[in-house]
Amino acid sequence: MPRALITGINGQDGSYLTELLLDRGYEVHGLVRRVSTLNRSRLDHLYNNPQIYGQRLFLHYGDLDDPTTLRRILVKIEPDELYHLAGQSHVGLSFEIPESTCEMTAMGTLRLLEIMRDLNRPPKLFHAASSEIFGRPEKSPQDELTPFAPVSPYGCAKAFATRMVTIYRETYGLFACNGIMYNHESPRRGENFVTRKICHAAAAIKLGLEKELMLGDLTGRRDWGDARDYVRAMWLTLQHSVAEDFVFATGQLHSVQDVVETAFKTMQLDWQPYVKRDARFIRPAEPLQLVGNAAKARLLLNWEPKTSFSQLISEMTNLELSRLAVQSSKPVGA
Ligand code: GDP
Repeated sequence: MPRALITGINGQDGSYLTELLLDRGYEVHGLVRRVSTLNRSRLDHLYNNPQIYGQRLFLHYGDLDDPTTLRRILVKIEPDELYHLAGQSHVGLSFEIPESTCEMTAMGTLRLLEIMRDLNRPPKLFHAASSEIFGRPEKSPQDELTPFAPVSPYGCAKAFATRMVTIYRETYGLFACNGIMYNHESPRRGENFVTRKICHAAAAIKLGLEKELMLGDLTGRRDWGDARDYVRAMWLTLQHSVAEDFVFATGQLHSVQDVVETAFKTMQLDWQPYVKRDARFIRPAEPLQLVGNAAKARLLLNWEPKTSFSQLISEMTNLELSRLAVQSSKPVGA
């Protein structure tokens, strides 16, 4: 049975990747941070299944700033594949907490690479890199050869980590790969990311639970895909015969306003009366024209996103509606 270790297993991507790997017959281990409030909600359905938890899924306490524990876990588990997804991933928040963002995202990755370098049988490494490394790029769409030009502390930390993965691959012969991932969303997206925030608000307004939606810049544009397509990309990267970097993107740009329009249309609402601007959500710097060219992944990995932007936003909004309707015990459509 192949064995995988996932950092950031509690996150959106970690939870979908866990499901994918379990489906494919893996034994899955996850690294979780010890915090006072237990956050395992995205894994509860697996954790509470005695056929899975303790049999084929195992969680271990460990932090990216604790290399002794990381080393012990890696030596004990001896994974075949290591998916490194952990890190402070909110761009806006990275301006508020730049040092801890860099500590986790940049130095955390370097620590893992340093440990891997010493192992007798290092695992294959997938590092979840981000389109934020391109920031204000010289060209659009971006591909694996586009120079890095980050504009946020998060982008800068990711640029460091991404380059380190390449350096360790080239210098020490590690099977270490970067997946340069454009934004990817799902019903499990964190609530402070704009798609989830908008889908939640449209559903809550439909049910009469909320009256307005406060947003920052509506003109910001992103290449938004479906997280479930992106975890498949992670797995495919490590099944490829050669360790390489790949861009994973839909190649389609949409604005924050497009998300608003699609979510409110799904709820059969006109968005204008409800959406208000709030300067608190405006970023000090915004990336420009971040849109990816995934031709290399299409060619070598046969990877292609399966869900369209409007399908994704509609699904997210409808699920929020069902979730909120259950919570507030109102029938859907009321
Ligand atoms: P990321 O910054 O690309 O990782 O993803 P986000 O979902 O956090 O933000 C996407 C875009 O939405 C950016 O251009 C933000 O400036 C814009 N945006 C506008 N209003 C909001 C808001 O209220 N919250 C967040 N998170 N983003 C907002």
